[in-house]
Amino acid sequence: MSIWNPWHGCTKISPGCLHCYVYRRDDSVGRDASTIFKTNDFDLPVQKAKSGEYKLSGTDGTVFTCMTSDFFVEEADAWRPEAWAYIRERQDLNFTIITKRIDRFSIGLPADWGEGYPNVTIASTCENQDRADFRLPLLINAPIQHRAVVAEPFLEPLEIESYLRSGQIDEVVCGGESGEEARPLYYEWILSLRDQCIKTGTRFSFRQTGSLFVMNGHAYHIERKFQLAQAQKANINFIPVYIPKDFMNPPLPPEEEPIHATKAAISPESTDQNRNSTSPATAEIVDSGIHISGINYPIEEIDEEPDLTASSDENQDAPSDEAGHENHSAREEEQIRSLFEHLQQSRFRSQFHLHKEERDYIAKIGLSKIESHARDFIRTKLAPKEPFHDGKQTPMHGHPVFLAQHATGCCCRECLRKWHHISPGRPLTEEEQDYIVHVIMTWIHKELAKQ
Ligand code: SF4
Repeated sequence: MSIWNPWHGCTKISPGCLHCYVYRRDDSVGRDASTIFKTNDFDLPVQKAKSGEYKLSGTDGTVFTCMTSDFFVEEADAWRPEAWAYIRERQDLNFTIITKRIDRFSIGLPADWGEGYPNVTIASTCENQDRADFRLPLLINAPIQHRAVVAEPFLEPLEIESYLRSGQIDEVVCGGESGEEARPLYYEWILSLRDQCIKTGTRFSFRQTGSLFVMNGHAYHIERKFQLAQAQKANINFIPVYIPKDFMNPPLPPEEEPIHATKAAISPESTDQNRNSTSPATAEIVDSGIHISGINYPIEEIDEEPDLTASSDENQDAPSDEAGHENHSAREEEQIRSLFEHLQQSRFRSQFHLHKEERDYIAKIGLSKIESHARDFIRTKLAPKEPFHDGKQTPMHGHPVFLAQHATGCCCRECLRKWHHISPGRPLTEEEQDYIVHVIMTWIHKELAKQ
C-alpha cells in the first residue's frame, strides 16, 4: 500500500474537521493548512525511475489518495482532471479516495468515467447522523464502482442500515479521533454499527480506538501507537460470505471468487469471523443477526496525556488524519491480516493445511531452515522475469513451503498478480521476495498454532 498526496491543505467543512490532523500537523511546523497547493508528488502515479519502471509498482496495491487534503476540495478543481488521468493510466493500482465532499464528486470527472473506473474506491466519511443523511444518498447514487463509508472520527451513534440495504456500499470502517482534544468514542456505537453491517451483509472494520475510548462506563486515554492494535483486539471485524448467484450452475472456478464481496446471498452459517475465534469476544446467533456478548478485552489505561508531537515514534511521521489515515507499518500489518481473511474465503486456498508429515519435517529441521527453503524457492522459481514452467513450478505437496505457496496465492506469477497485485513479466524485487516469504511463513506459523 502507498500514499499519494497530489495536493496539500484543506478547508474545514463539517464537525469531523474540528481537530483535523492536517491542521494539527501544519500548526506544529508553523504552516497554514488552509493554504492549498500542489505537491511535488502531484504526478507520483506516473513518475518513473531511471530504469523506466513506474516508481509506484503494481505491488503497491492500494494507493490511499489525498490524505492531507480532500480530493474534491474546490481549490483543486483545476488540478483534478490531470489527477484522474494518472489514475486512469495506472489500472494496475487501486486508488482509495476518502472524502467529506461527495457532493462535489461530479466536478471535473473524466469524459470516459461512465459508471466509474474499476480501480477507484470512493469512501464518504460520516462522522454523525446529519452528515450521514446528507452524504450517503449522494454516495449511493453517484456512478461509482466501489463505495465505502468511513465513520472516523465517529462522533455519535449512527443509523445507516437503510443506506446499507441499498447494496451499494461495500464496506464500513469506523474509528475514533486522535489528538489531545479528541472527542470520545463509545464502544456501544461501534457494536450498533457493526450489527447494521451484519444485518445487511456489509463488510465492517473497527479500525482504531482513537485517543479517548469509552467502554463499560470507563474512559480510556489511549496512546496513538496502541489505537490500532487495541481495536484489533476486539476482533469484531465482519466479512460477509459471498455466494455467487450462479454458484450452482455453473460454479465459478474457485480461483475466480471475488476478493471484494458484493451483495449477494449471505450464508447464515458463517457470517461472523468471530464464530470460531479464540478471542475473549464471543458471539451467538440471534435470528438473522449476530449478538455480541461478553466482549471484555484489556485496554491499557494511560494516565498522562498523549504527547503526539514529542514522540520520536516513526508512526508519528506518517501522513494520517481522522479521515481514516494511518501509519505505513500498521497498514502493512492490516494488509497481511486482510489477505488472510480473503484467503479464508477461497474454497481452493483454504483447503490446504499442514499434515503430520509436514509438521514432523518442520520439527525436524526447524523454522529457520524452512524459511531459508522458502527464500530459495521464491528466488529460483518465482523471481525470474519468465519463470521456467510458470504455473506448474510449484508441486501440490512434498514440502511445507509448497503447501503454503498454494494456500497463500504465491505459487506462480499469475497467482501473485491476482492475490498480491505483483505484476508478471519482470523480475521480482528483493522487497517483493521478502514480502512473499513473510506471507508464506505467516501461513506456516498460523498452521502450526492450530496444533
Ligand atoms: S478533516 Fe479532511 S476534509 Fe476536514 S479539513 Fe481535514 S482534510 Fe479537510
